[in-house]
Amino acid sequence: SLKPGRTILSSTISKTYVEEIKNKVEALKGIRPDGPLLVGFLANDDPAAEMYANWTAKTCESMGFRYELRTVPEKDFLEEAIIEANRDDAVDGIMVYFPVFGNAQDQYLQQVVSREKDVEGLNHVYYQNMYHNVRYLDDKQQQKSILPCTPLAVVKILEYLKVYNNLLPEGNRLYGKKCVVVNRSEIVGRPLAALLANDGAIVYSVDVNNVQKFTRGEGLKFKKHHVEDLGAYSNELLQQCSADADVIITGVPSETYRFPTEFIKEGAVCINFSSSKNFDDEVKTKASLYVPSTGKVTISMLLRNMLRLIDNRQK
Ligand code: NAD
Repeated sequence: SLKPGRTILSSTISKTYVEEIKNKVEALKGIRPDGPLLVGFLANDDPAAEMYANWTAKTCESMGFRYELRTVPEKDFLEEAIIEANRDDAVDGIMVYFPVFGNAQDQYLQQVVSREKDVEGLNHVYYQNMYHNVRYLDDKQQQKSILPCTPLAVVKILEYLKVYNNLLPEGNRLYGKKCVVVNRSEIVGRPLAALLANDGAIVYSVDVNNVQKFTRGEGLKFKKHHVEDLGAYSNELLQQCSADADVIITGVPSETYRFPTEFIKEGAVCINFSSSKNFDDEVKTKASLYVPSTGKVTISMLLRNMLRLIDNRQK
């Protein structure tokens, strides 16, 4: 076919982290002869969560980690189970498959996971650091803060695709880039828009209600991003924002949603992190680089976060 661009799979991108991760696991043999232990808590019967758990288990084992899935059939016992894992010195990392209750109680449970074992980077301290563009946990700048896995995975994908320009100083490597992010959930879309804007991009953050602009201002004069409301959601506004966007990122959890191909600038980079397909196949006639899913890179980031947590604990 005469497609001008390329499709890049997340499995290809995640391979670039295998060596780094395996070497670090090897270096931990002294304190963790059988490999670091990740515990996953499953308290729902979501088939997507179970699939993700299976993948995580496989990836863990292939890289020298141990993975233990703990199913908690009675949701009300989950909190106790997490606390027990927090206390257990044999456990290095903890993750919970959400939604559990599907309401604010999930946010509470998320904070029950000890900060020192929070591989997904969902602890309030990590979030606040991310939003404020604070990269270390300590004043001596020895312990790096943890970033939420999926937004971090998208950042690493953009680095792989060379959208991040490494001729620019670290922290400004997206200067001049315009990005659209369709999703503003607290788990992925909003932190992602903040991360990209903190790195210098102009980000249009789109959800069902409205469109917001995240930037560090003219000449990147602010240390962290600021947010501006651009108005209620409409197709026209989405088209306007997309017209000169270098990057379009989608995360709409719907089987029927499709980002309109005609809105995509010729040669844009398109990335979908939703578990549903958000771009039509025609995206390949427009996109320079198209990444249809991100899950494999997310798992690599999870394992990388876990190694960083162990490192932070040792310090
Ligand atoms: P969510 O339901 O919390 O958020 C969905 C967001 O999309 C909201 O901001 C909503 O306003 C917006 N949205 C929905 N329909 C829209 C539309 N038509 N136009 C514009 N915006 C629209 O979901 P979530 O937790 O952010 O998850 C989203 C998707 O990402 C799911 O498919 C989930 O499985 C997937 N996900 C993937 C990973 C990964 O590692 N790849 C990780 C977490 C979540």
